[in-house]
Amino acid sequence: MDRQPTRSGQSFGPLLEAVRRIASEVAAPNAADVDSQARFPGETLAALRDAGVLSAAVPREQGGAGCGLLELAQLCSTLAQACGSSGMVLAMHYIQLACIAHHGQESEFFKSYLRDIVQHQHLLASMTSEVGTFGETRTSVCAVEREGGKFVLNKDATTGSYCAHTDAILVTCRRDAQAPGTDQVLVLVRKEDCTIKQTTSWDTLGMRGTCSPGFRLESSGPEQQILPGAFADSSAQTMVPYSHVLWSSVWWGIAADAVGKAANFVRGQARQAPGTVPPTATRLAEASLQLQNMKQLWQSAATAFDAIGPDSRSREELLSMGWALRLNNLKISCSEAAPQIVHRALQIVGILGYKNDSPFSLGRQYRDSLSASLMISNDRIAAKSASMLLIFKDGP
Ligand SMILES: Cc1cc2nc3c(=O)[nH]c(=O)nc-3n(C[C@H](O)[C@H](O)[C@H](O)COP(=O)(O)OP(=O)(O)OC[C@H]3O[C@@H](n4cnc5c(N)ncnc54)[C@H](O)[C@@H]3O)c2cc1C
Repeated sequence: MDRQPTRSGQSFGPLLEAVRRIASEVAAPNAADVDSQARFPGETLAALRDAGVLSAAVPREQGGAGCGLLELAQLCSTLAQACGSSGMVLAMHYIQLACIAHHGQESEFFKSYLRDIVQHQHLLASMTSEVGTFGETRTSVCAVEREGGKFVLNKDATTGSYCAHTDAILVTCRRDAQAPGTDQVLVLVRKEDCTIKQTTSWDTLGMRGTCSPGFRLESSGPEQQILPGAFADSSAQTMVPYSHVLWSSVWWGIAADAVGKAANFVRGQARQAPGTVPPTATRLAEASLQLQNMKQLWQSAATAFDAIGPDSRSREELLSMGWALRLNNLKISCSEAAPQIVHRALQIVGILGYKNDSPFSLGRQYRDSLSASLMISNDRIAAKSASMLLIFKDGP
C-alpha cells in the first residue's frame, strides 16, 4: 500500500477530530460488513494512517504526538463507538507502541524505529499467547536464540490479532534456551523478518474484525530488535496498564454505542406522544448511570497513570501490589459492565434491537462486548488478585 508520510509533532486536538471523522465516515458505514465477513477493517486503518493517528503514542522527541494514556483512551473509545473491532485494533497497536516508547529509549535502534513509525505509520501487533501456556502471558515456552548479532525466534501462538495485516509483531519469549518460563523478553519481529502460517480459524461470536486466529511464527533478524530489559518490567509498567485502560475504553465505546441507539429509540417514542415521558426513559437513565460509572473507572486510572513521572524511579511505583490490584479491578469491572449495559440497551429497544436488519440492531455490540471477560480470563485475573490480597494490607 502507498503510504503518505505524515507531519511530525501533531497535537491531540486535531488527532481526536480526525478519529471522530474517520469513525463516522469510514468505520461506522463498514462496521456491519467487517463483522459479517470477519474481515480486517482495512479502510479504517488506511484512514487512520493517512491522518497520522498510528503514531499518537510516539514521544515528541521522536516526532510523534506524545499522547498520554488518557488521550489514547479517548481516541480508542471514539473509534469503538463506530466499530468495536477497529477500536480494539487501535488499542492493541498503541499498547505495543507504548512498550517500545517507554522501554526502548536506551536503544538507538528503537529510537530510530519510533521515528519510522511517525513517517510510515507502521501497524504493530502482539503475540503473547502460546500453545502450552494456557492464557498465562507471563510465561513462555519458546525462547529467543542469539548468534553472531542475529536472533532466531519461532513461536506457536494461539491467538494473534491482525497478524496477517501488520507491519511488525511484538513477541514474548524466554530470554534464552536455558531461562525459566517466566524470564521473558519482548522481540520486535518485522514483516520482512518472518513467515507466519495460520494454524486455526477465527469464526467467533464477536470482535470478528480483529482477525485473531492462531499462527506459527518463524523469524530471524538483527539482535538489536530484542527490547532492552525484562518483560516482567515492561509488562507491569506499560503493557498491563495500557491494556486494561485502553481495552476498557474500547468496551466503554461499544456500550456507549448501544446506549446511543437506545437513546434514539426512546426519543423517537417521546416524539410520538408529545408531553409524556416514555417508560423506557427510566431504563435509559439507569443505563446512562452505569455507562458514566464505567467511564469514570478508566478515566481515573488513566489520569493517575499519566500523573506518574516518566523517570524509572517513579515508574517503580507501577510494580506495587496496589497498582496491580487497581488495574485488575478495572479490567474485571469494565469487562463485566460492558455486556450488562448493552443488555440494558436491548431491553429498552426490544425486538428492533434483537433484529439484525434494523437500524437499532444491537447484535454486533452485544457479541463484541462478550469478548471482554475472556480477553485474559477474568477468573485468571481474579485468582491473581486473591493471592495478592492475602498479603496486601494497604486497605481496600
Ligand atoms: C478479541 C481477542 C483478541 C485477542 N488478541 C490477542 C493477540 O493479539 N495476541 C495474543 O497473544 N492474544 C490475544 N488474545 C488472547 C487473550 O489474550 C488470551 O490469551 C486468551 O483469550 C485466553 O484464552 P483462554 O480462555 O483459553 O485462556 P485461559 O486463561 O487458560 O482460560 C481458560 C479457562 O480457564 C479458566 N481459568 C483460567 N485461570 C483460572 C483460575 N486461576 N481460576 C479459575 N479458572 C481459571 C477461565 O475462566 C477459562 O474458563 C485475544 C483474545 C480475544 C478474545
